[in-house]
Amino acid sequence: MNVLVINCGSSSLKYQLINMANEEVLAVGLAERIAIDGSRIKHETIGKEKVVIEQPMKNHKDAIEMVLAAIVNEEYGAIKDMSEISAVGHRVVHGGEKFSGSVLITDEVKKVLEECSDLAPLHNPPNLMGINACQEILPNVPMVGVFDTAFHQTMPKSSYLYALPYELYEKYGIRRYGFHGTSHKYVSQRAAEILGKNIEDLKIVTCHLGNGASVAAVDGGKSIDTTMGFTPLEGLMMGTRCGDIDPAILPFLMEKEGLDAAGLSDLMNKKSGILGLTGISSDFRDIEDAAAAGDERAILGLETYCKKIKKYIGAYMAEMGGLDAIVFTAGIGENGAEIRRDICKGMEALGIEIDEEKNNVRGKERIVSTDNSKVKILLVPTNEELMIARDTVALVK
Ligand code: AMP
Repeated sequence: MNVLVINCGSSSLKYQLINMANEEVLAVGLAERIAIDGSRIKHETIGKEKVVIEQPMKNHKDAIEMVLAAIVNEEYGAIKDMSEISAVGHRVVHGGEKFSGSVLITDEVKKVLEECSDLAPLHNPPNLMGINACQEILPNVPMVGVFDTAFHQTMPKSSYLYALPYELYEKYGIRRYGFHGTSHKYVSQRAAEILGKNIEDLKIVTCHLGNGASVAAVDGGKSIDTTMGFTPLEGLMMGTRCGDIDPAILPFLMEKEGLDAAGLSDLMNKKSGILGLTGISSDFRDIEDAAAAGDERAILGLETYCKKIKKYIGAYMAEMGGLDAIVFTAGIGENGAEIRRDICKGMEALGIEIDEEKNNVRGKERIVSTDNSKVKILLVPTNEELMIARDTVALVK
């Protein structure tokens, strides 16, 4: 059974075609600049040459049509006919409180997703566009929605409520939802498998450190707390997002800088984080290079970044009443050996001891703690697409 996994952004669409008989990836690709000049698809069928197809795409429907054409292309495609696609799994960012697991997409579900768009105005509308476009082109193929928020629906109320008037939670759904759930779920399950333990018996802190970043406390396989909140802005400092700040800074800036809601949102989402603090870049490779060359703000930026993560590891260890494993994943978590080292450094008294030699690795599953470390430290490359495909198969079967 082949499952097409779609991750639709406002101007981009990532896809993977996976043969679920053996979980083998058949093709991967990215449609970029949808509805912008210079639209193109970068497509790769595994085992064949990568191709770049440049062709205007005026909307997501055009993009899906091009993706499907690439997948069935005689020369560089992966399958002969679209009928070989049995189901489509869609990544959906926000499922609100309605979805605590993946769902088969129906008209009813789409209505609820539209309601959730208020909570994720940048993410849910393009996710829905992708779903609608796929349904138009593949009307008889079942579609499944897999939510970034679902894994965190097990958080207790004490983790997800803000100390705001309770009526605001009831009226607007203002609460913490958490994101990257598919990734936190996948890497915590993989970590249990790698350690040869039952996940029900483990207390794990998962660190998803990519362009967006969040830490989760996974107790017995369930998320009990996470750093992202009402939106993916709360918590850690990220590439361009500020994460936790004193909320009183907002009215102060409104007054001093004359910023309105859109201006504040832009400042906190796009101009802050490691980019804002260092003034160099949002890409941690540039920051590491600048730090290695002695740039003081780059060094400060990395210190600040690592300290935030360390604080949350400690907080979640306290919250769970112990810790068996820390898992690092996503772009920075998988590749930034020095960042992993600096996060863990100084926590030896808590039974957390990283092995510098084992830690000197990129993008591979590995235990990187010392043999004596009470808390195991693991590097687990994330695989959200596979999780989406697995949920899709489970629901359409
Ligand atoms: P993701 O959102 O998971 O794709 O992560 C993307 C981010 O990973 C990039 O913005 C980089 O900052 C970071 N990254 C990728 N490779 C490296 C590396 N070798 N060292 C440090 N950071 C990296």
